[in-house]
Amino acid sequence: MNEIQALQARLAEYEKRERELQFRVDELTDFFENASLPLHWVDADGKIIWANQAELDSLGYCREEYIGRPIEQFHADPPVIRDILTRLINNETLHNYPARLRCKDGAIKHVLINSNVLRKEGRFIHTRCFTRDITDIRKEEERKNDFIAMVSHELKTPLTSLKSYIQILLLKARKEEDDFRINALTRADVQVKKMVSMIGDFLSLTRLEEPQIKLHQELFHLQSLAEEVVADARLLTEKHTINIKGCEAIIKADRDKIGQVLANLLSNAVKYSPDGGTITLGCEKMKGSIKIFVRDQGIGVSREHQRNLFTRFYRVENDKVRTVSGFGVGLYLVTEILRQHGSEIKMDSIEGKGSVFYFHMKTF
Ligand code: ADP
Repeated sequence: MNEIQALQARLAEYEKRERELQFRVDELTDFFENASLPLHWVDADGKIIWANQAELDSLGYCREEYIGRPIEQFHADPPVIRDILTRLINNETLHNYPARLRCKDGAIKHVLINSNVLRKEGRFIHTRCFTRDITDIRKEEERKNDFIAMVSHELKTPLTSLKSYIQILLLKARKEEDDFRINALTRADVQVKKMVSMIGDFLSLTRLEEPQIKLHQELFHLQSLAEEVVADARLLTEKHTINIKGCEAIIKADRDKIGQVLANLLSNAVKYSPDGGTITLGCEKMKGSIKIFVRDQGIGVSREHQRNLFTRFYRVENDKVRTVSGFGVGLYLVTEILRQHGSEIKMDSIEGKGSVFYFHMKTF
């Protein structure tokens, strides 16, 4: 082969590779442009520099109305998009970050955002943002929540009347010193209270998801709240000793809601220690804050289940738990109430030995 033939062969080889490369580029471009999942890129100034057809279709804009505009313009909640951009600038990867987008026709779409940043030599080039439309799922959830709220409300009315009649009969039985009736009515009263508290949990669950939920924060003595919730918890059980330890402190919080947290933790401590034992609602003072805990000597929770306990409707799947009534909403409520207070529920547990659930609050 002479030199010219060798050059021609190399040129032919380059051309073949270029065609292959172009084919791959076209394939990938088609994949992103025509994927059914909305995708876009945003630059370091928060400007949209590329979006695929699915993104334009889902929001109803044409290319010129969308690309080159600030992404903030299409978000319904400015603080949310600012938080998203700050996180991305700080190198975070977002997984299922909830946001609300504004469509051209004024409708609001609920989406989950998954995004991170392409960087070259440390420089922010653009985001790689995938959005998943969950508007229909949200609407379905809202319908379910409305239904739960309505049913819970309807159930509450007859229970309130049942409770008053039990109280009247109890008064009468006490006057007549009729021990049998006192005992039976006290038990009935405890069961009604249990039901009222379960319904209360369901109602709180549906309300938690309303964004406008407000806390009624006030300064109060933790000890007096602890005494109230422990007195109620003692009514649930004859097998357990329930103690209060070191709760003399003043905290600022929504008293009713923190009461609900403690009542939930205590009722779990009772439910999940079927052989009885000691339960402690205790506090440990720290500098400027207090650790509040509920400790039991019950069945405990194995490591693999511990991190899931705080998810809505989660219950440990085993024979010991199955015999205890519950819907798996208590700890989710606890988590959400504490999150609204800027606190977090944590736990330690040894299976077969017991558990301790705890959180921190600021003291005054
Ligand atoms: P529920 O008690 O109605 O099932 P929760 O959300 O309060 O719902 O609790 C979720 C799960 O966590 C329970 O089903 C149980 O498996 C576990 N759990 C909660 N508290 C305790 C505890 N003190 N000891 C052992 N397991 C617990």
